[in-house]
Amino acid sequence: MEALITLLPGDGIGPEVTSSAHRALKTVADVYGHDFRFEVRLIGGAAIDETQNPLPPDTVASCMESAAVFLGAVGGPKWSDPHAMVRPEQGLLELRAELGVYANIRPVKVMDELIGASPLRAEYIEGVDLIVVRELTGGIYFGKKTRDESLASDLCVYHTHEIERIVRVAARLAEGRRNKLCSVDKANVLETSRLWRDVTNQTLAREFPELDTETLLVDAAAMHLLSRPRDFDVIVTENMFGDILTDEASMLAGSMGMLPSASLGDSTRGLYEPIHGSAPDIAGLDVANPCAAIASAALLLRHSLGLAEEADAVEAAIAAAIGAGVRTADIARDGETPVSTTEMTDRILSALG
Ligand code: NAD
Repeated sequence: MEALITLLPGDGIGPEVTSSAHRALKTVADVYGHDFRFEVRLIGGAAIDETQNPLPPDTVASCMESAAVFLGAVGGPKWSDPHAMVRPEQGLLELRAELGVYANIRPVKVMDELIGASPLRAEYIEGVDLIVVRELTGGIYFGKKTRDESLASDLCVYHTHEIERIVRVAARLAEGRRNKLCSVDKANVLETSRLWRDVTNQTLAREFPELDTETLLVDAAAMHLLSRPRDFDVIVTENMFGDILTDEASMLAGSMGMLPSASLGDSTRGLYEPIHGSAPDIAGLDVANPCAAIASAALLLRHSLGLAEEADAVEAAIAAAIGAGVRTADIARDGETPVSTTEMTDRILSALG
Protein backbone atom coordinates (compact mmCIF):
# COMPACT_ATOMS: atom_id res chain seq x y z
CA MET A 1 0.00 0.00 0.00
CA GLU A 2 0.99 3.66 -0.44
CA ALA A 3 0.95 6.00 2.54
CA LEU A 4 2.29 9.41 3.49
CA ILE A 5 3.57 9.57 7.07
CA THR A 6 4.67 12.82 8.76
CA LEU A 7 7.51 12.45 11.25
CA LEU A 8 7.84 15.05 14.02
CA PRO A 9 11.11 14.30 15.85
CA GLY A 10 10.79 17.24 18.29
CA ASP A 11 13.25 17.73 21.13
CA GLY A 12 15.62 15.89 23.47
CA ILE A 13 15.55 12.14 22.77
CA GLY A 14 12.66 12.73 20.33
CA PRO A 15 14.91 12.69 17.23
CA GLU A 16 16.75 9.56 18.44
CA VAL A 17 13.62 7.47 19.03
CA THR A 18 11.92 8.87 15.93
CA SER A 19 14.87 7.63 13.90
CA SER A 20 14.28 4.14 15.37
CA ALA A 21 10.56 4.25 14.50
CA HIS A 22 11.38 5.53 11.00
CA ARG A 23 13.82 2.67 10.46
CA ALA A 24 11.19 0.17 11.65
CA LEU A 25 8.59 1.56 9.23
CA LYS A 26 11.09 1.51 6.35
CA THR A 27 11.96 -2.11 7.16
CA VAL A 28 8.27 -3.05 7.18
CA ALA A 29 7.84 -1.32 3.81
CA ASP A 30 10.80 -3.30 2.36
CA VAL A 31 9.81 -6.66 3.82
CA TYR A 32 6.09 -6.42 2.97
CA GLY A 33 6.33 -4.44 -0.28
CA HIS A 34 4.69 -1.18 0.79
CA ASP A 35 5.41 2.34 -0.46
CA PHE A 36 5.62 4.62 2.59
CA ARG A 37 6.64 8.24 1.96
CA PHE A 38 7.94 10.29 4.87
CA GLU A 39 7.86 14.03 5.49
CA VAL A 40 9.87 15.41 8.42
CA ARG A 41 8.55 18.59 10.08
CA LEU A 42 9.32 20.82 13.06
CA ILE A 43 7.41 20.86 16.34
CA GLY A 44 8.03 21.98 19.93
CA GLY A 45 11.25 23.63 21.03
CA ALA A 46 13.01 22.88 17.74
CA ALA A 47 10.22 24.74 15.93
CA ILE A 48 10.35 27.67 18.39
CA ASP A 49 14.09 28.01 17.73
CA GLU A 50 13.58 28.19 13.97
CA THR A 51 10.21 29.91 13.61
CA GLN A 52 9.17 31.23 17.08
CA ASN A 53 6.12 28.99 16.67
CA PRO A 54 5.85 25.55 18.36
CA LEU A 55 3.50 24.35 15.61
CA PRO A 56 4.37 26.02 12.28
CA PRO A 57 1.63 26.05 9.62
CA ASP A 58 3.57 23.76 7.25
CA THR A 59 3.78 21.15 10.02
CA VAL A 60 -0.01 21.24 10.39
CA ALA A 61 -0.46 21.09 6.60
CA SER A 62 1.78 18.03 6.26
CA CYS A 63 0.03 16.26 9.17
CA MET A 64 -3.40 16.95 7.69
CA GLU A 65 -2.33 15.47 4.33
CA SER A 66 -0.86 12.35 5.93
CA ALA A 67 -2.35 8.96 6.66
CA ALA A 68 -0.61 9.06 10.04
CA VAL A 69 1.68 11.22 12.16
CA PHE A 70 4.56 10.02 14.33
CA LEU A 71 5.86 12.25 17.12
CA GLY A 72 9.04 11.75 19.19
CA ALA A 73 8.71 14.13 22.15
CA VAL A 74 8.70 17.87 22.84
CA GLY A 75 10.03 20.12 25.58
CA GLY A 76 13.12 20.63 27.66
CA PRO A 77 14.82 23.07 30.03
CA LYS A 78 15.85 25.40 27.21
CA TRP A 79 12.21 26.36 26.65
CA SER A 80 10.78 25.96 30.16
CA ASP A 81 11.06 29.55 31.42
CA PRO A 82 7.66 30.07 33.15
CA HIS A 83 7.48 33.57 31.66
CA ALA A 84 8.11 32.46 28.07
CA MET A 85 5.50 33.60 25.56
CA VAL A 86 5.43 30.27 23.77
CA ARG A 87 6.10 26.76 25.02
CA PRO A 88 6.90 23.52 23.18
CA GLU A 89 3.96 21.69 24.80
CA GLN A 90 1.52 24.21 23.24
CA GLY A 91 2.52 22.83 19.85
CA LEU A 92 1.56 19.31 20.86
CA LEU A 93 -1.74 20.33 22.44
CA GLU A 94 -2.63 22.35 19.34
CA LEU A 95 -1.68 19.48 17.05
CA ARG A 96 -3.93 17.06 18.97
CA ALA A 97 -6.79 19.55 18.67
CA GLU A 98 -6.10 20.20 14.93
CA LEU A 99 -6.10 16.47 14.19
CA GLY A 100 -9.23 15.96 16.32
CA VAL A 101 -7.58 13.03 18.09
CA TYR A 102 -9.64 12.86 21.26
CA ALA A 103 -8.89 9.27 22.28
CA ASN A 104 -5.42 8.47 23.58
CA ILE A 105 -4.96 4.71 23.79
CA ARG A 106 -2.13 3.53 26.03
CA PRO A 107 -1.58 -0.22 26.30
CA VAL A 108 0.38 -1.45 29.34
CA LYS A 109 1.53 -5.03 29.01
CA VAL A 110 4.10 -6.53 31.35
CA MET A 111 6.49 -8.78 29.46
CA ASP A 112 7.58 -11.80 31.52
CA GLU A 113 11.25 -11.10 30.74
CA LEU A 114 10.98 -7.57 32.17
CA ILE A 115 9.24 -8.39 35.43
CA GLY A 116 12.54 -7.85 37.23
CA ALA A 117 12.90 -4.37 35.68
CA SER A 118 9.82 -3.12 37.53
CA PRO A 119 10.22 -1.71 41.03
CA LEU A 120 7.10 -3.73 41.96
CA ARG A 121 7.11 -7.30 43.17
CA ALA A 122 6.65 -10.04 40.55
CA GLU A 123 3.55 -11.56 42.17
CA TYR A 124 1.69 -8.27 41.68
CA ILE A 125 2.58 -7.59 38.07
CA GLU A 126 2.83 -10.99 36.37
CA GLY A 127 0.30 -11.13 33.54
CA VAL A 128 -0.70 -7.45 33.66
CA ASP A 129 -2.35 -6.51 30.36
CA LEU A 130 -4.42 -3.35 30.45
CA ILE A 131 -5.24 -0.34 28.28
CA VAL A 132 -5.78 3.18 29.54
CA VAL A 133 -8.04 5.27 27.30
CA ARG A 134 -7.36 8.90 28.10
CA GLU A 135 -9.57 11.76 26.88
CA LEU A 136 -7.13 13.99 25.03
CA THR A 137 -8.70 17.20 23.76
CA GLY A 138 -10.80 18.44 26.69
CA GLY A 139 -10.59 19.06 30.42
CA ILE A 140 -8.26 21.27 32.39
CA TYR A 141 -5.41 21.21 29.85
CA PHE A 142 -7.59 22.98 27.31
CA GLY A 143 -9.69 25.26 29.55
CA LYS A 144 -9.26 29.01 29.89
CA LYS A 145 -6.22 30.04 31.92
CA THR A 146 -5.74 33.19 33.94
CA ARG A 147 -2.79 34.57 35.83
CA ASP A 148 -2.00 37.75 37.71
CA GLU A 149 0.50 38.53 40.45
CA SER A 150 -1.26 36.63 43.21
CA LEU A 151 -3.80 34.39 41.50
CA ALA A 152 -3.88 31.75 38.79
CA SER A 153 -6.69 29.54 37.47
CA ASP A 154 -7.19 26.72 34.96
CA LEU A 155 -10.74 25.98 33.92
CA CYS A 156 -11.80 22.32 33.59
CA VAL A 157 -14.64 21.87 31.09
CA TYR A 158 -16.30 18.74 29.71
CA HIS A 159 -19.26 18.47 27.36
CA THR A 160 -21.60 15.47 27.32
CA HIS A 161 -20.65 14.55 23.75
CA GLU A 162 -16.94 14.51 24.63
CA ILE A 163 -17.60 12.01 27.41
CA GLU A 164 -19.94 9.84 25.32
CA ARG A 165 -17.50 9.45 22.43
CA ILE A 166 -14.49 8.52 24.60
CA VAL A 167 -16.57 6.05 26.61
CA ARG A 168 -17.68 4.41 23.34
CA VAL A 169 -14.04 4.04 22.20
CA ALA A 170 -13.11 2.43 25.51
CA ALA A 171 -16.17 0.19 25.64
CA ARG A 172 -15.56 -1.12 22.10
CA LEU A 173 -11.97 -1.90 23.03
CA ALA A 174 -13.15 -3.76 26.14
CA GLU A 175 -15.65 -5.76 24.07
CA GLY A 176 -12.74 -7.04 21.98
CA ARG A 177 -10.75 -7.99 25.08
CA ARG A 178 -11.86 -9.27 28.52
CA ASN A 179 -15.12 -7.29 28.55
CA LYS A 180 -14.19 -5.20 31.60
CA LEU A 181 -14.30 -1.41 31.77
CA CYS A 182 -13.29 0.80 34.69
CA SER A 183 -14.16 4.51 34.60
CA VAL A 184 -12.03 6.81 36.77
CA ASP A 185 -13.19 10.20 38.02
CA LYS A 186 -13.25 12.44 41.12
CA ALA A 187 -17.02 12.67 41.46
CA ASN A 188 -16.88 13.26 45.21
CA VAL A 189 -15.32 16.69 44.59
CA LEU A 190 -15.47 17.84 40.96
CA GLU A 191 -18.58 18.85 39.03
CA THR A 192 -16.98 17.78 35.73
CA SER A 193 -16.46 14.35 37.29
CA ARG A 194 -20.11 14.15 38.37
CA LEU A 195 -21.11 14.82 34.75
CA TRP A 196 -18.46 12.30 33.62
CA ARG A 197 -19.94 9.63 35.92
CA ASP A 198 -23.58 10.27 34.93
CA VAL A 199 -22.86 10.30 31.20
CA THR A 200 -20.60 7.24 31.43
CA ASN A 201 -23.18 5.22 33.36
CA GLN A 202 -25.99 6.23 30.97
CA THR A 203 -23.91 5.49 27.86
CA LEU A 204 -22.79 2.11 29.15
CA ALA A 205 -26.28 1.07 30.31
CA ARG A 206 -27.83 2.15 27.01
CA GLU A 207 -25.22 0.94 24.50
CA PHE A 208 -23.04 -1.64 26.25
CA PRO A 209 -25.25 -3.47 28.79
CA GLU A 210 -23.16 -6.65 28.60
CA LEU A 211 -19.94 -5.00 29.81
CA ASP A 212 -18.62 -5.71 33.29
CA THR A 213 -18.18 -2.14 34.59
CA GLU A 214 -16.59 -0.51 37.61
CA THR A 215 -16.14 3.10 38.77
CA LEU A 216 -13.21 4.32 40.86
CA LEU A 217 -12.20 7.67 42.30
CA VAL A 218 -8.83 8.69 40.88
CA ASP A 219 -7.03 8.56 44.22
CA ALA A 220 -8.29 5.02 44.82
CA ALA A 221 -7.46 4.09 41.21
CA ALA A 222 -3.85 5.20 41.76
CA MET A 223 -3.69 2.74 44.66
CA HIS A 224 -5.53 -0.13 42.94
CA LEU A 225 -3.23 0.17 39.90
CA LEU A 226 -0.38 -0.89 42.15
CA SER A 227 -2.20 -3.30 44.49
CA ARG A 228 -4.24 -5.26 41.89
CA PRO A 229 -3.09 -4.21 38.39
CA ARG A 230 -4.00 -7.61 36.88
CA ASP A 231 -7.71 -6.97 37.55
CA PHE A 232 -7.84 -4.10 35.03
CA ASP A 233 -8.73 -4.62 31.39
CA VAL A 234 -9.70 -1.18 29.96
CA ILE A 235 -9.63 2.02 32.03
CA VAL A 236 -11.28 5.17 30.71
CA THR A 237 -10.62 8.57 32.23
CA GLU A 238 -10.34 12.29 31.60
CA ASN A 239 -7.28 14.12 30.30
CA MET A 240 -5.26 14.99 33.40
CA PHE A 241 -6.09 11.84 35.39
CA GLY A 242 -5.09 9.74 32.36
CA ASP A 243 -1.83 11.64 32.01
CA ILE A 244 -0.87 10.90 35.60
CA LEU A 245 -2.17 7.32 35.84
CA THR A 246 -0.35 6.22 32.68
CA ASP A 247 3.01 7.45 33.98
CA GLU A 248 2.29 5.46 37.13
CA ALA A 249 1.27 2.44 35.04
CA SER A 250 4.54 2.67 33.09
CA MET A 251 6.32 1.47 36.21
CA LEU A 252 4.39 -1.81 35.97
CA ALA A 253 6.05 -2.38 32.59
CA GLY A 254 9.48 -1.45 33.92
CA SER A 255 10.14 1.86 32.14
CA MET A 256 8.56 4.79 30.35
CA GLY A 257 10.71 3.65 27.45
CA MET A 258 8.47 0.61 26.92
CA LEU A 259 5.05 2.24 26.54
CA PRO A 260 3.55 3.34 23.19
CA SER A 261 0.42 5.35 22.52
CA ALA A 262 -2.05 5.98 19.73
CA SER A 263 -4.25 9.06 19.57
CA LEU A 264 -7.33 8.61 17.42
CA GLY A 265 -10.41 10.56 16.40
CA ASP A 266 -13.28 9.80 14.07
CA SER A 267 -11.09 9.07 11.02
CA THR A 268 -8.27 6.55 10.61
CA ARG A 269 -5.62 9.31 10.72
CA GLY A 270 -3.88 9.08 14.06
CA LEU A 271 -1.02 10.57 16.05
CA TYR A 272 1.43 8.03 17.44
CA GLU A 273 3.97 8.76 20.14
CA PRO A 274 5.80 7.07 22.98
CA ILE A 275 4.29 8.11 26.31
CA HIS A 276 7.61 9.42 27.59
CA GLY A 277 8.85 12.98 27.28
CA SER A 278 12.02 14.39 25.79
CA ALA A 279 14.23 13.02 28.64
CA PRO A 280 16.74 15.90 28.56
CA ASP A 281 18.91 14.05 31.08
CA ILE A 282 19.85 11.42 28.47
CA ALA A 283 19.34 13.35 25.21
CA GLY A 284 22.05 12.95 22.59
CA LEU A 285 23.74 10.04 24.38
CA ASP A 286 22.27 7.22 22.24
CA VAL A 287 21.05 5.44 25.38
CA ALA A 288 17.27 6.03 25.21
CA ASN A 289 15.04 2.98 24.97
CA PRO A 290 13.49 2.95 21.47
CA CYS A 291 10.92 0.20 22.27
CA ALA A 292 8.08 2.63 23.06
CA ALA A 293 8.68 4.49 19.79
CA ILE A 294 8.89 1.32 17.71
CA ALA A 295 5.79 -0.08 19.45
CA SER A 296 4.04 3.21 18.60
CA ALA A 297 4.98 2.60 14.96
CA ALA A 298 3.30 -0.81 15.28
CA LEU A 299 0.12 0.92 16.51
CA LEU A 300 0.37 3.27 13.51
CA LEU A 301 0.51 0.30 11.14
CA ARG A 302 -2.49 -1.33 12.85
CA HIS A 303 -4.82 1.61 13.45
CA SER A 304 -4.10 4.08 10.63
CA LEU A 305 -2.88 1.81 7.82
CA GLY A 306 -4.92 -1.31 8.62
CA LEU A 307 -1.77 -3.48 8.47
CA ALA A 308 -2.43 -5.84 11.38
CA GLU A 309 0.01 -8.55 10.26
CA GLU A 310 2.83 -6.04 9.97
CA ALA A 311 1.95 -4.52 13.35
CA ASP A 312 1.99 -7.96 14.97
CA ALA A 313 5.39 -8.62 13.37
CA VAL A 314 6.87 -5.40 14.80
CA GLU A 315 5.55 -6.21 18.27
CA ALA A 316 6.91 -9.77 17.97
CA ALA A 317 10.31 -8.36 16.94
CA ILE A 318 10.42 -6.18 20.08
CA ALA A 319 9.48 -9.22 22.19
CA ALA A 320 12.16 -11.29 20.42
CA ALA A 321 14.90 -8.75 21.16
CA ILE A 322 13.81 -8.47 24.79
CA GLY A 323 13.49 -12.26 24.96
CA ALA A 324 17.08 -12.56 23.68
CA GLY A 325 18.21 -10.46 26.65
CA VAL A 326 18.91 -7.20 24.78
CA ARG A 327 18.44 -4.30 27.22
CA THR A 328 18.85 -0.54 27.16
CA ALA A 329 20.03 1.03 30.42
CA ASP A 330 16.53 1.81 31.73
CA ILE A 331 15.50 -1.87 31.74
CA ALA A 332 18.88 -3.52 32.42
CA ARG A 333 19.25 -5.21 35.80
CA ASP A 334 22.43 -5.62 37.80
CA GLY A 335 24.90 -7.67 35.81
CA GLU A 336 23.25 -6.99 32.42
CA THR A 337 25.29 -4.89 30.00
CA PRO A 338 23.10 -2.21 28.43
CA VAL A 339 23.12 -1.56 24.69
CA SER A 340 22.70 1.74 22.88
CA THR A 341 19.52 3.03 21.23
CA THR A 342 21.05 2.20 17.86
CA GLU A 343 21.95 -1.35 18.83
CA MET A 344 18.56 -2.05 20.41
CA THR A 345 16.96 -0.82 17.18
CA ASP A 346 19.30 -2.99 15.08
CA ARG A 347 18.42 -6.07 17.14
CA ILE A 348 14.67 -5.42 16.84
CA LEU A 349 14.91 -4.82 13.09
CA SER A 350 16.99 -7.95 12.56
CA ALA A 351 14.12 -9.94 14.12
CA LEU A 352 11.76 -8.23 11.69
CA GLY A 353 13.34 -9.59 8.55
P1 NAD B 1 10.46 12.26 30.67
O1 NAD B 1 9.48 11.22 30.26
O2 NAD B 1 11.12 13.00 29.58
O3 NAD B 1 11.59 11.56 31.57
C1 NAD B 1 11.30 10.97 32.85
C2 NAD B 1 12.43 9.98 33.18
O4 NAD B 1 12.30 8.82 32.36
C3 NAD B 1 13.83 10.56 32.92
O5 NAD B 1 14.71 10.08 33.90
C4 NAD B 1 14.20 9.99 31.57
O6 NAD B 1 15.59 9.82 31.37
C5 NAD B 1 13.48 8.63 31.59
N1 NAD B 1 13.06 8.23 30.24
C6 NAD B 1 12.05 8.75 29.52
N2 NAD B 1 12.00 8.16 28.32
C7 NAD B 1 12.97 7.24 28.29
C8 NAD B 1 13.44 6.32 27.31
N3 NAD B 1 12.85 6.21 26.10
N4 NAD B 1 14.48 5.54 27.59
C9 NAD B 1 15.09 5.62 28.80
N5 NAD B 1 14.71 6.46 29.78
C10 NAD B 1 13.66 7.28 29.52
O7 NAD B 1 9.70 13.25 31.65
P2 NAD B 1 10.21 14.63 32.28
O8 NAD B 1 11.66 14.54 32.61
O9 NAD B 1 9.22 14.94 33.33
O10 NAD B 1 10.01 15.70 31.12
C11 NAD B 1 11.04 16.16 30.27
C12 NAD B 1 10.44 17.08 29.22
O11 NAD B 1 9.56 16.32 28.38
C13 NAD B 1 9.60 18.22 29.80
O12 NAD B 1 9.87 19.38 29.07
C14 NAD B 1 8.17 17.77 29.58
O13 NAD B 1 7.28 18.85 29.43
C15 NAD B 1 8.30 17.00 28.30
N6 NAD B 1 7.26 15.99 28.07
C16 NAD B 1 6.86 15.82 26.79
C17 NAD B 1 5.94 14.84 26.50
C18 NAD B 1 5.55 14.64 25.05
O14 NAD B 1 6.23 15.14 24.18
N7 NAD B 1 4.50 13.90 24.77
C19 NAD B 1 5.44 14.01 27.50
C20 NAD B 1 5.91 14.18 28.80
C21 NAD B 1 6.83 15.16 29.08
